[in-house]
Amino acid sequence: MIVLKFGGSSVANATAMSRVLDIIERAAARDRVIVVSSAISGCTDALIQIGEAEDPEKLINQLQDRHLAIISRLFTGDERREASADCKSIFSDIRCIPPVIEAFGEVLSTRILARKLYCEGFKTKWLDSRDLVRTVPGGGQVEMAFTCKAIQEAVAANPLIKVFVAPGFIGRDASGAVTTLGRGGSDYSASIFAAAVGADDLQIWTDVPGIMTANPKVVPAAMTIGDISYRAAFDMARFGAKVLYAPAVAPARDAGIAIGIRNTFDPENPGTLISDRSAGVREWKGLSSLDDPQSGTTRICLIGEGPSTGKSVAPRRIAGALRDAGIQPLGEVSVEDGVNYFITVRTNVAHNAVAAVHREFFEARTLSLIDVYVAGNGAVGQALKAIVDANDGKFPTAGKRLRIIEISSDHGFAQHVLSVARSHSVFVDCTDSEDIWRSFVPLLQAGINIVCSNRRSLAIPYVEYAAIKAAAAQNGCFFRYDTTVGNALPILQSISDGAGCGSGIKLIEAVVSCTLNYLVTSYNGPRRESFASLVQRAHSEGLTEPDPRLDLGGRDALRKLLILSREAGVPLEESDVEIVPMLGPEFFGGSLEDFYRRLEDFEPEFARREEEMDATGKRQRFVASLRREEDGTYKANISMQLVGIDSPFYWINGTENVTVIHSDDAYPLVIKGSGEGARLAASGIIRNIMQ
Ligand code: ASP
Ligand code: MG
Repeated sequence: MIVLKFGGSSVANATAMSRVLDIIERAAARDRVIVVSSAISGCTDALIQIGEAEDPEKLINQLQDRHLAIISRLFTGDERREASADCKSIFSDIRCIPPVIEAFGEVLSTRILARKLYCEGFKTKWLDSRDLVRTVPGGGQVEMAFTCKAIQEAVAANPLIKVFVAPGFIGRDASGAVTTLGRGGSDYSASIFAAAVGADDLQIWTDVPGIMTANPKVVPAAMTIGDISYRAAFDMARFGAKVLYAPAVAPARDAGIAIGIRNTFDPENPGTLISDRSAGVREWKGLSSLDDPQSGTTRICLIGEGPSTGKSVAPRRIAGALRDAGIQPLGEVSVEDGVNYFITVRTNVAHNAVAAVHREFFEARTLSLIDVYVAGNGAVGQALKAIVDANDGKFPTAGKRLRIIEISSDHGFAQHVLSVARSHSVFVDCTDSEDIWRSFVPLLQAGINIVCSNRRSLAIPYVEYAAIKAAAAQNGCFFRYDTTVGNALPILQSISDGAGCGSGIKLIEAVVSCTLNYLVTSYNGPRRESFASLVQRAHSEGLTEPDPRLDLGGRDALRKLLILSREAGVPLEESDVEIVPMLGPEFFGGSLEDFYRRLEDFEPEFARREEEMDATGKRQRFVASLRREEDGTYKANISMQLVGIDSPFYWINGTENVTVIHSDDAYPLVIKGSGEGARLAASGIIRNIMQ
């Protein structure tokens, strides 16, 4: 047997009721069902008002109209006439203003539901809870033995019935007087029905996603609690959570029935399960608060799960959170049974107080935690660690928390990560290793994501590059490497967005070699040093490769061009790129000393070229380009070019990068900015990890 309970907003109107009917039909396909329902929302309050009003006629008509409107939406023809007549006959009782007038709301709503199910072809029976639920004199409490027996007999007497429908909230005492189970009591009714029949499933359908860590109307960041013990759910309810009526917990608990709290308006959502499954796990569950209108104060309760372990820091954290929010609590934090903590504040600051305590105990943990392994403990690796440390790993705007598990320059590090890392971890390559990429496919196959700022790992044969990308796709991992070209500039992303989304790329031109930019923009600068000494200085400042000839020969620019081109969907290989290096072949043999000596010999020639350019108003820039030919194929080359003042490459400072993307459908996109700097690279890596 399945017991389904629907709250007032779940049956508030015909649309909501149709959802409810769907939910019932789905349950009825699995098992016999008992439906327990509240009155339509606002109905109980309206009935109480009617009972107290001097002239209740207008209120009665309004309430009757709401019910008739639902009926006329749900039924047609004779069915509508019968349902309306039934409704009006109940209202004729209401018009007599009987005692306990509020008991009629549930009768009205359930009569409609039962009739609709019957008309849909379900073997349905409406049960009158007033005859089944026996309350102890004084109301509220239920005589369980009597009640269970009555419910069992009613069910047993109707073996062919598929769906029973019963009003929540109401009963009768031994004297025969109609009573209620207290405001919100339909939950209690449902729990009693479930216990009586030993239901396999008790689901309480409401208008919120479940029991939440705080009232979502007060704390928008509140989260649904997936699992909660009977005890903690009971405490949440009795200390103020509106989602569940506290007395509803006991009957189900005593019968060993789990209680599901589900959202009628999001029926696929699993909601909250109240059971003893999570009772042993020590953790914070949620916040409830209860106003005391008399004193204008509100008591906030932080509810814990499981046995407490040692001395708790909770009081200090609660006090600190309130202090940070500028709220003065009334008295000290108190504790009950070592699991629940209480603090009282003035009601006018209660919302802020709840939000502050919620932030302290529940929101930090929603940042999803990402384990990061950093290969390469050089400038970039250290900057990465420094940024993560400075933020305590938390990047709330991205909703992420990073935890650097290890950082290492060891050669076998990737292998080590492969054996220890959990899947969904991130492996960062900020080495300058030539062969670390060989571990990428195995890492991805193990479910480990990769963020790479080492462009050597991408400037590999195209088939290898493609294999890494395929491994990422097949294993649901990401492989991101935006910082390999232009550091933190959004270059690759702009290219892949254009190329991947159908806008053809005509031409990409990039001045992306920071080293060369630095050299050509600094030469002839205020220092007026020789080109040889400039190169030497750049070398000693770490701006060049260990052998600066690699930069001057265009090696680094070549790597970047490969990456750019492949991002545009062009499977370029190194051998496809035509490079005209800045210096002739005579510079490239021999030792570094030979090289610097030769540069000195050439100084007059460099100076002459520079003067010539000054005279013509041109500048020289080392430009990498990928150009689409007439026949649709692409040509790639890297060479020194003379550019005039109208070129986007003309004004460049030191290590600035400029990339210009010419596509079929737009004016050229110019991306210009810092292309150097360990901190920038690190921030680009962090963005790649979290995006
Ligand atoms: N209709 C009743 C009330 O408003 C009972 C319930 O909805 O649970 O209190
Ligand atoms: Mg309720």
